[in-house]
Amino acid sequence: MESADIRGTVAGDLWTNSKAYENTEYIVDHYGNRFMGTESERKAKDHILALFKAYGLENPHEEPYRYCGWKRGPCKVEMISPVQREIWAFAHPHSGSTPPGGMEAEVIDLGKGVQQDFEANADKIKGKIVMVTTGWYPGQSYFLGHRVGKHGWTSDFGGVALMIRNETPGGLIETGTIATGYRNTGEIPVVGLSFETGAFIERQLKKGPVKVRIDMQNEVRPDTVGWNIVGDITGAKYPERKVLVGAHFDGHDIGQEAASDDLLGAMVMLDVARALAKFKGTSKRTMRFVAFGNEECLTVGSINYVAQHENDIKNVDIMINGDGLGRWPNPFLCVNNPPELVGPLSRLVEEWKIDASVGVTDSRNPGWCTSTDNHPFTMQGIPTMVISGRGRASVIGAAGRGAAVRDHTICDTMDKIDTFVIKQYAILLAELIMALAQRDEPLIRHSTQEEVLEALRKYGYIDALKAQRRWHPDSILGI
Ligand SMILES: [Zn+2]
Repeated sequence: MESADIRGTVAGDLWTNSKAYENTEYIVDHYGNRFMGTESERKAKDHILALFKAYGLENPHEEPYRYCGWKRGPCKVEMISPVQREIWAFAHPHSGSTPPGGMEAEVIDLGKGVQQDFEANADKIKGKIVMVTTGWYPGQSYFLGHRVGKHGWTSDFGGVALMIRNETPGGLIETGTIATGYRNTGEIPVVGLSFETGAFIERQLKKGPVKVRIDMQNEVRPDTVGWNIVGDITGAKYPERKVLVGAHFDGHDIGQEAASDDLLGAMVMLDVARALAKFKGTSKRTMRFVAFGNEECLTVGSINYVAQHENDIKNVDIMINGDGLGRWPNPFLCVNNPPELVGPLSRLVEEWKIDASVGVTDSRNPGWCTSTDNHPFTMQGIPTMVISGRGRASVIGAAGRGAAVRDHTICDTMDKIDTFVIKQYAILLAELIMALAQRDEPLIRHSTQEEVLEALRKYGYIDALKAQRRWHPDSILGI
């Protein structure tokens, strides 16, 4: 078959025979949310590995790794004064515990709670419970307002606990890890609040000091085992050179499903692998598909993947992160590293008439996006991109990460998934991988370590990486 015919057949297969929705639904209904260290995660892993095998991928296998796990325990939060009231709150994953019997302290509101907010209030934070929102300032990278950094700054400035308030009204609490599970766990108790609870506390603060009591016991579980699932379609001409696509299959535990972040992305990726595997032997480069484990505790699976493949990681020509595949309308190829990749990628997309826009940033991420699975690859100098959607803002119509609709809330459920959108993403991903794997030269060279460090400096990320406890320049675990 000519490559144009293969492309047509693959696109037709993905359009008429899509399995992405039904596979997502099966896993969500039978196994649940796939939170780290749970039976749900392990059963979903077994099921996904069986799909890798059934779909004809070569050498389908799981790659276990160990990390610092965490288990949610009881959590009770109440306002003591000026009024007494129980407060609806959840622990963020990796949150520390209070002393047995709980702790009481005054609350300080630091607004968005990015680095400058902490610095401006440096002398007022010690001994307080810090309240911040889930957001960051306009024009600022999402990364600089990431909750893991807010946790680190609270601890560094002497705060005794952190409450993270949703910026979006609607009564939802947005969850998310506050530590990097691949190397540590949280230092202080951290809970999430709804926008409305935050507004209540803010209103009381206008009248005078507010005292809150937190009683929360969580469990740290060192040496928890997780898994990445890997399968290939081997290239005929340059079998050792890889176009690597990854999407994470784990999810958060506050809802039952965690359907679209990012099980849906993993299942769209797998559907693309299913359609392409029928034509194995026709691409020049190897296509590698990875369903990453535990992205949610800050790229635990992908960090371990890079560490475990240290010896041949430089054979990855490009890494495509599918954390967002099929989630939002209007597909967007968001280049992470290096920014110069935009030129050749745009030309490739034009030449192949692939329906996606290309750029270096979306509204959330001026600069690199470093809080999802492309991060450890970016740190190794490998060209990276995230497939996301320009339609995010119009769908959510909300501030922050738009949690009122789905990500990281109890509302990340199957009813939000649009089967037209997921087929559109599947076809564009298949076309993109085929175009990349058919080349004799990579689109762009790898960055050197000096270039990576320079970019981190330019974006102002080094302080944030330190606050996130992710600054370890001498280790392969992510510069
Ligand atoms: Zn995700």
